[in-house]
Amino acid sequence: MAEFDFDLFVIGGGSGGVRAARMAAQRGARVGMAESGPMGGTCVNVGCIPKKLYSYGAHYQEAFEESRGFGWQLTGTPTLNWETLKSNRAKEITRLNGIYDGLMTNAGVLRLQGHGKLTDAHTVEVTQSDGQTTRHTSRHILLATGGVPFVPEFPGRELAVTSDDMFDLPQFPQRLVVVGGGYIACEMASIFNGLGAQVTLLYRGEQVLRGFDNEARAFTASEMRKAGVDIRVNTEVERIEAAGSGRKVFLQDGQVLEADVVLYATGRKPRVNGLGLGALGIRHDDNGKILINDDFSTSVPSVFALGDVVGRMELTPVALAEAMVLVDHLFGPATGKPSRTMDYEFIPTAVFTHPPIGTVGLSEEKAREKFEAIRVFRSDFKPLKHTLSGSSERTMVKLIVDAATDRVVGLHMVGADAGEIVQGFAVALKCGATKAQFDATIGIHPTSAEEFVTLREVSRT
Ligand code: FAD
Ligand code: NDP
Repeated sequence: MAEFDFDLFVIGGGSGGVRAARMAAQRGARVGMAESGPMGGTCVNVGCIPKKLYSYGAHYQEAFEESRGFGWQLTGTPTLNWETLKSNRAKEITRLNGIYDGLMTNAGVLRLQGHGKLTDAHTVEVTQSDGQTTRHTSRHILLATGGVPFVPEFPGRELAVTSDDMFDLPQFPQRLVVVGGGYIACEMASIFNGLGAQVTLLYRGEQVLRGFDNEARAFTASEMRKAGVDIRVNTEVERIEAAGSGRKVFLQDGQVLEADVVLYATGRKPRVNGLGLGALGIRHDDNGKILINDDFSTSVPSVFALGDVVGRMELTPVALAEAMVLVDHLFGPATGKPSRTMDYEFIPTAVFTHPPIGTVGLSEEKAREKFEAIRVFRSDFKPLKHTLSGSSERTMVKLIVDAATDRVVGLHMVGADAGEIVQGFAVALKCGATKAQFDATIGIHPTSAEEFVTLREVSRT
């Protein structure tokens, strides 16, 4: 008889957990999984996918406006049916939940619906919604429990909503106040602005999107403002009060804003409640992020963790990559393939603001810290489309080059389809492309992306 029920037991059926379970089962491992909610985790249910669908929806407003310059005549004013958008999104998410369920079943993973908790280094207790519990032993256990929104303590905190609530708001918020200046705050501000809300974004610092290239941050904020988002920096909330069905937001400078909905997008924290970490002595940092070694093992060697619960980079493709590296480590690589390793350098990312930011590699500021000398190439321009559309939106492209090696170490874009464009350039940067190789690449005309291979003049050193 086998020593354990499973070779791998995964707690959490999100991006990282599903990928790890499926890959391990494909290598012949006996795999179990506990998921307390719908399959697919944050990305599928309340993250990347519904967010991007709503972002597509939001872009129609400018498309309707801009179409006139191309000769289209709209009879009547297009209006948004919020109920239609919500119900079509919900149908698509339910379809995806089913696909994720199917992936598990087809791979031979035993899927348990319920809350997983560690009871010892090799045992998981799963509690179903009716209170029934089952216990499962496993050689290895993976914690892939993701994160939850963080809202700071302040008077009226309970009157704010988080990104989890935004996709299914009972009424479309005509006046939305967003607090925060990171990925979620900026994306939600752009999306709801595009969908027709009057949006005010309140950020406590000097400039939104801390950590991104400073020039890209300023350019994005300026474009968001042009599109209608009222971004107020150096602004903090003192309290929120209910005002009928709406909210009053009292700022520390004495101003009062009225809103239908107040969204707090002030970061996320690891989801570790009720996981049983304390009893096993599994170590975490002050923010609750589980501490792991290079092989994703926690301070208990049979227990592993990855994805948002360790929070190295809270992105779906990172959780997927970590899962594949872990499976190679635990069960060996796929036949004929080398064992994967995790490399956090040159991970591209996009912020789906309107217009979006795409970025890979170092910001100008980080590059200046790291290299003795750099060359910066940048350009901003009116995209061809907007010569007729009437929109004043501009696009910015920027390359940062290590002067000593000519290697392109940072690439940033703010403009339509930046995520799509930067994904391709990320391969080049990962391969160590030099500025000379960018220059030797022929452009595709007429595109915005061709600017990256035609930047000839150094903007600054
Ligand atoms: P999750 O996907 O969060 O999965 C964790 C799962 O574990 C959940 O299903 C949860 O129900 C389950 N769980 C937790 N505790 C237990 C327990 N004790 N027992 C059983 N089940 C449990 N990333 C991108 O790359 N691109 C984007 O465009 C993007 N947009 C985003 C937009 C928003 C609004 C948010 C919030 C996030 C976005 N992200 C995006 C981030 C991305 O969603 C996460 O990085 C990714 O989902 C992390 O995967 P994970 O497997 O670590 O956790
Ligand atoms: P971020 O860490 O990106 O941003 C949090 C924001 O909240 C920051 O502007 C921060 O300010 C502010 N903040 C934090 N604490 C407080 C406070 N007490 N009072 C006021 N403001 C505060 O977190 P998000 O929640 O936006 O997103 C979480 C993660 O999810 C992202 O980091 C990203 O990895 C992932 N994600 C990815 C997306 C994508 O790939 N497109 C989209 C959405 C999320 P300050 O800068 O001053 O610290």
